Amino acid sequence: MTGPLRVAVVGSGPAGLFCAQILTEDPERAVAVDVFERLPTPFGLVRYGVAPDHQKIKSIVASLAETFEAPGVRFLGNVTVGTDVTVEELRERYHAVILASGAPLDRRLGIPGDELTGVLAARNFVSWYSGHPDADFDPSVLAAETAMVVGVGNVALDVARMLVRTPDELRRTDVPEHVVDALAGHAVREVVVVGRRGPQFAKFTNKELLELAEVESADVLVDPADLAHASPATPAARRLLASLQKIADREPRGRDRRIRFLFDRTPIGFVGETAVRAARLARTGDPTVVEEVAAGLVLPAVGYRSAPPAGVPLDDDAGTVPHRDSRVVDANGEVGGLYVAGWAKRGPSGVIGTNRLCASETVAAVLEDAAALDPRVAVPVDDLLATRGVPVVDWTRWRLIEAAEAGLGAEHGRERVKLHDRKDMLAAARVH
Ligand code: NAP
Repeated sequence: MTGPLRVAVVGSGPAGLFCAQILTEDPERAVAVDVFERLPTPFGLVRYGVAPDHQKIKSIVASLAETFEAPGVRFLGNVTVGTDVTVEELRERYHAVILASGAPLDRRLGIPGDELTGVLAARNFVSWYSGHPDADFDPSVLAAETAMVVGVGNVALDVARMLVRTPDELRRTDVPEHVVDALAGHAVREVVVVGRRGPQFAKFTNKELLELAEVESADVLVDPADLAHASPATPAARRLLASLQKIADREPRGRDRRIRFLFDRTPIGFVGETAVRAARLARTGDPTVVEEVAAGLVLPAVGYRSAPPAGVPLDDDAGTVPHRDSRVVDANGEVGGLYVAGWAKRGPSGVIGTNRLCASETVAAVLEDAAALDPRVAVPVDDLLATRGVPVVDWTRWRLIEAAEAGLGAEHGRERVKLHDRKDMLAAARVH
């Protein structure tokens, strides 16, 4: 191999940026890493998934941003791999291509009534309050008095918490102004969080549960009967049950909003003419016991699926990119020079830090293969993108978007307010 090791990373969330960081860690190794991102903004789910009131988790942005201070690492934002440039074109131009494009699709419940107005994947709501430019969420659904969240993972808790945050709390975050306004005036008074199994199997973490229990604006209710027969098998499950028991034992504080947990209930259908008005929940273990619980908004938070660019194989059942030790495989075996990291590889699990170990495995595979890898086409990707008129947002231009968000924040007496319209982002970045 002559010259630096040239690597294209597809996706600028934690998985992709950890790969880029690890590649640059050895000062003896010459690398050129191009990080492609379909949005004009970096950081993936840290920007568009981590809840806005979790600023401490979001502070990882500072260390992820340092990735671009290393010589040889570039940000190519606003470039959709699969449309603006194909994976094959990248494979021709780089020694290795690492797919770190996450899991951008929702798992569906696939039950009757799933298609009713007001049944919307939690991601639609999360994307909207996070100011994602492609968010598809009509806030008129917040006219419902009761919302239901299906699933008991951390996303379910994020969504439930955001539905009861006060305008003051929201103004301390970077959510767009229209989101603050809609959440300030919405009608939702009760959020029912439904787990299909017993509380000992809840996927949310104790820390997130305790945080929810302390939310000022709402009572959090757990039915002691739901805890009565739970037998936790792990220390983590024991801690979770102890916290749920404490919540169940508390006297409600008379708040005008409440979050109510229901366990051992499997949603079997949603009821309504065109818009949802209730969910049918069957008792897990005794499906003959079915109850109808009113809900004018249903947000399933039941996990995500990958959607890799065209030409990349997908394991449809797992919703991930098939791989052998991070090397992408298709029906013919390993696809030379193509690797995978993050949720596209492991599925939607773990915390941000989990991606670092995952990335180190992927980079190890790249480095092990490096001697045998060789780009076939010398024409740089920049020429290809320029010919196609793709307005690339590089790191300097992203900084302009950041500055515009700080400016918007100052106008509203807030630290920062996110731009949520792609046109505004590109105008701030001065690309046309
Ligand atoms: P998750 O933790 O896998 O939870 C998914 C939930 O959906 C589970 O309770 C699951 O129940 C339920 N579910 C799945 N299919 C269902 C169905 N057909 N009917 C009813 N319920 C169903 O996923 P997540 O909440 O989307 O979170 C994804 C990852 O991001 C997790 O690793 C999470 O910890 C992480 N995350 C972390 C934070 C944080 O640290 N603050 C915040 C958000 C997300 P079963 O267990 O029965 O399958």
